[in-house]
Amino acid sequence: MASTVCGWCGDRTHMTMVTDLYQLPEGLWPTKGYSATPDRDLPVWMAAFRCPNENCQRLSIGWAPLHRAKMGPTKDLFLREQLNWEPTQIRRPAFPDVPKEIADTASEAHACLSIGAARGAVALARAVVEATAKAKGITMHGIAPKIAAMREQDIISPLTEQTSHQIRKDGNSIAHGDIGEELMSLDDAAAILEFMDALLDEVFQRPAKLTRLSERGTQQAPGGSADGATPVQGGADFSTPH
Ligand SMILES: [Zn+2]
Repeated sequence: MASTVCGWCGDRTHMTMVTDLYQLPEGLWPTKGYSATPDRDLPVWMAAFRCPNENCQRLSIGWAPLHRAKMGPTKDLFLREQLNWEPTQIRRPAFPDVPKEIADTASEAHACLSIGAARGAVALARAVVEATAKAKGITMHGIAPKIAAMREQDIISPLTEQTSHQIRKDGNSIAHGDIGEELMSLDDAAAILEFMDALLDEVFQRPAKLTRLSERGTQQAPGGSADGATPVQGGADFSTPH
C-alpha cells in the first residue's frame, strides 16, 4: 500500500508512484531460511514515490519482496503490498501532562506507527489504556473491567469508553497471539492511536490544562473582573482543537 507517513514531512499521506518498477539484482534478494542463497521466488521490487503534501513533494523509495506465485500485473500486486519505506521519520510526540511511564509508552506507540510497525503500535496502545486505569487507582484484573470502572467513576466519557474497548479488542488479538492472515493496516493502527491520544487528553491533559487556566484566572481576579470566575482576558485559548 502506498499509504505511509512521509519520512520527509511527517504527514500521513498516500504516495504517488512516479517511476517504473525496478527489480533488485537477484543476489540481493532475501535468503531462504538459514541458507545464504537468495530465494528465487522472492524478487524484490522498488520504485520512487512522490509525497502529495504541497510543501514537501519529495521522493521516497517504497520496496517489497513479491512472491512469484502471486498472480496479476506486477505493479498492481506491488501497490497492494505493505511496502517498506526510505527515508523513514521516527515520530516521538511528547505527552507533557501524562505520567512519565504512560507518556513514554504512548510516544513509543507513535514511533512504531511511523516506521510502519502497526501491530507494535496497537499492542502498546492497549498497554497505555490499562496503565491509565492503574494510574487512576483502578487495579482489578483484566483490561475490560478496568475500562468499565473508569466509566463508572466518570473518569472517561461513554464515547471514550467505546473507543477504549476498540483499542482493547485490537490490542488483545495481538497480545494474545491471535495474529491471523489479515495484517493490521496502518490506517487501522493510526485510528487506534488517535483513540489512545483522545483518552490521554481526556484523562490527563485536558484536566491539567483547565487547572492551569483556572489558576491563572484566580491570580488575575483581584482588581480585575467582579467575580473572577471567567478568565476571558489574558489569551486563554479554549478553542484549541484536539
Ligand atoms: Zn512529505
